[in-house]
Amino acid sequence: MKEEEIRNADTHKQYLEMVCADALNFFNSPASVEVVSCPACTSARFHREFTKFGFTYVTCDECRTLYVNPRPKVGPLKYFYVRSPSSRFWVEKFFAPVAEARRLKIFRPRAAYVAESLPSLAEGTVGDIGAGYGLFLEELRQFWPRGRLIAIEPSPEMAKICRDKQLEVAESTIEDLNAHDGTFTLLTAFELLEHLHKPQSMVSKAYSLLAPGGYFLITTLSGDGFDIQIMWDKSRSIFPPHHLNFLNPDSLALLCQNAGFAVKSIETPGALDWQIVEGAMARRDIQLDRFWSHVNRTSSADCKADLQTWISKHRLSSHMRILVQKPVN
Ligand SMILES: [Zn+2]
Repeated sequence: MKEEEIRNADTHKQYLEMVCADALNFFNSPASVEVVSCPACTSARFHREFTKFGFTYVTCDECRTLYVNPRPKVGPLKYFYVRSPSSRFWVEKFFAPVAEARRLKIFRPRAAYVAESLPSLAEGTVGDIGAGYGLFLEELRQFWPRGRLIAIEPSPEMAKICRDKQLEVAESTIEDLNAHDGTFTLLTAFELLEHLHKPQSMVSKAYSLLAPGGYFLITTLSGDGFDIQIMWDKSRSIFPPHHLNFLNPDSLALLCQNAGFAVKSIETPGALDWQIVEGAMARRDIQLDRFWSHVNRTSSADCKADLQTWISKHRLSSHMRILVQKPVN
């Protein structure tokens, strides 16, 4: 997969500039933000890293989670997502042109992974939290035509798009979703956790919605990831108020275990870390140290592909995936 296939670099830059302007406009009052404890382990001990778009990122002294603190309160954050010009730009200009490419490159392989990993759930009840355009469930329907597939989506516009695709929709945030307790055999949350004001609430709620023995699959950004570690405050993945939480394989496992889940697998199957760094160098967004500049200038495509394989294999990619299970008893 090529980065350019799933996001256009110029549109991405324009989008991030709009987010920066919106962040400064929407959260300029101290009353719109609050100090929080670590979103993974709840420790109150942290140290400051850097400020971006007016928000400060800190690292938890206990579990290495990188997070925005103070962070937007829930009300102002919801208002931002509904009303900010950058949110509309994302839907219309950033996501829509690459939606079909993303279906092929991201959502279809994701559905294949689920179908292959959890074949016994083929006729179960699946809920995709933050279903958006419904691409994942559409793809999963190809594999599991007899499953009950529910898009859990709070945005009225997105919920309508899912309904138009003949998907069952629960038009709600996960926190407000009732009447389904203990019914899901699988819940999924793709690229959602990094956006949440309080990830613990989502994970605990997922636990109560699942049937005993049910699975929860999460993908999110890892703060241990290669491109994030290399580029740090200049990483395009680090942009508030959207990306508030960068857990890592250890702290994500801890978060799920604290909610009662058993960890079945935790991996970083990302394929883009090196390409992201290479792209940033080509745009002169970053300057690398002597070794990585040398690799970039002189190494073969084969060498760079091996590097990416090594990054993914050793849980050092910024794309992280965890599969956890609610105990049967
Ligand atoms: Zn922590």
